[in-house]
Amino acid sequence: MRASEYMIVTLRETPAEAEVVSHQLLVRAGFIRKAAAGIYTILPLGQRVLKKIIAIVREEMDRQGGQELLMPIMQPAELWMKSGRWDVYGPELFRLKDRHGRDFCLGPTHEEIITELVRNEVRSYKQMPLLLYHIGNKYRDEIRPRFGLMRGREFIMKDLYSFDIDEAGLEISYQKMHEAYSRVFSRCGLEFRPVEADSGPIGGNVSHEFMVFADAGEATVVYCDNPECGYAANVEKAISKRKDNPADEQPQPLEEVSTPGMRTIEEVSSFLGVAPERLIKTVLYRTEKGIVAALVRGDRDINEVKLQNVLGTVHLELADEATIEQVTGAPVGFAGPVGLDGVDLVVDEEVTDLVNGVTGANRKDAHYINVNPGRDFVPDHVTDIRLVGAGETCAYCGGTLVATRGIEVGQIFKLGTKYSKAMGATFLDANGEEKPIIMGCYGIGITRTMAAAVEQNHDDYGIIWPASLAPFHVVIVPVNIKDKTQAALAEQVYRLLENKGFETLLDDRRERPGVKFNDADLIGYPVRITVGKKAPEGLVEVRHRRTGETITVGLDELVSTVNSFLEK
Ligand code: ATP
Ligand code: MG
Repeated sequence: MRASEYMIVTLRETPAEAEVVSHQLLVRAGFIRKAAAGIYTILPLGQRVLKKIIAIVREEMDRQGGQELLMPIMQPAELWMKSGRWDVYGPELFRLKDRHGRDFCLGPTHEEIITELVRNEVRSYKQMPLLLYHIGNKYRDEIRPRFGLMRGREFIMKDLYSFDIDEAGLEISYQKMHEAYSRVFSRCGLEFRPVEADSGPIGGNVSHEFMVFADAGEATVVYCDNPECGYAANVEKAISKRKDNPADEQPQPLEEVSTPGMRTIEEVSSFLGVAPERLIKTVLYRTEKGIVAALVRGDRDINEVKLQNVLGTVHLELADEATIEQVTGAPVGFAGPVGLDGVDLVVDEEVTDLVNGVTGANRKDAHYINVNPGRDFVPDHVTDIRLVGAGETCAYCGGTLVATRGIEVGQIFKLGTKYSKAMGATFLDANGEEKPIIMGCYGIGITRTMAAAVEQNHDDYGIIWPASLAPFHVVIVPVNIKDKTQAALAEQVYRLLENKGFETLLDDRRERPGVKFNDADLIGYPVRITVGKKAPEGLVEVRHRRTGETITVGLDELVSTVNSFLEK
């Protein structure tokens, strides 16, 4: 390809709204342009990268026996009503009506369409296992579209769905996808890790996310520092060893004490001279099932994902001040479980270990001391609802947990029978008995993977594409395009490399060499070949983008040099 005929639209300025490096560089280097918030045009350079990611994904899905199909983006509401998600998906679902007033949505995911398809087409155990996948646009009206391709409202996903006759079959399908995902992200040149994940509104029970470690990641990942243990989880799901009960005392009688203006854990703790771990934090939430109170120790925070899973609710939000006053009879800061009637108490298991704890007294400027769970209040649920933090002890091996940021590039779920039961997708087993199909679903964010690759591979000058994703492997820069010897040698190099199968861009634009060098660094081709003063001797300079290593070679050594640079 000749740069003079190619769409190279690099920018000097960083777009003001671009907060993260991948967004800044993908716009500046001319890979993407914004059409609306969270909606992008992928420019020719960007499309070359996406096609490479898609090709890798497709190969790895096919290797595991996946069969590609193409499902509609526009989906009828009836299917979503059948699965029960029309009402629970909320404002993230793009909804529209046709001219007859019938409801549709733009697919944020495709469980409904595929389950309906399989319900109609698959009748017998002999037709399974089945791995069906699709690569296409997804639509989610994200509350905060941002970070360029990282969190779009329109984005490209690969989604595969597995259909098995039993749990053992699902386990095999799940392991196949686990392996396929590891291969995909390795081949994309990414540093990643599979971590245990919450299964969220998609449903099911077992799930892993594939996380690319990067500061720009929106997810927090917790992992054990003991490499032999290998425990790693999204913080939404993470567990840690239960802390020991701080006090070894006899329960004392409940007592109300005056705590004027002391609302926060820190204030109450220092005012009463009691360690935060002996306080009981009581937080009120509003859900569609009513108001609930969540209780954790004062040195802990609440994991709202765990809380929501315990409650089985779709909506969960902090109760507002007016609600708190109405429910507790006290202003914010004095809530406690003692005598809190008509409110479900979800209590973290560590709280139940406390002896002579401290809580709000549901009265202005007052707390209770010597609160003993079980005696002074009775929990409705006792379970783990704590948020895990760095430095805590691994529940499995006693190692120390470390926290880091991750970009979720893929997620795999065991769905079980959630959709097949709701939508009536059954089959006849070997005994002629009718059973629900056992399903799994597996997504890769194709466009997000492109952004993640940039987050992990860049420097102050621009992008440094892993060879497997680079839009072109090599750029050739003739220093002086008007110099006939240089122009002729550049042309010869270009032909040679193209013939050898390298994707090559000849930068024959009428620009100063400085502009071309800057663009080459910004765009991030892994190898740059400069044809300059040594052209009369038949020599060119080959530069490795990542390390800056530069070697001067003749044409006889050119191919091997380029190959060695592409491999490192
Ligand atoms: P997130 O928690 O980041 O919102 P999700 O868990 O809702 O993502 P899934 O339903 O698991 O996403 O979708 C599969 C994959 O699609 C994700 O792992 C991610 O790579 C990608 N993805 C999801 N939402 C977006 C988005 N708004 N923009 C770009 N890619 C996305
Ligand atoms: Mg996910």
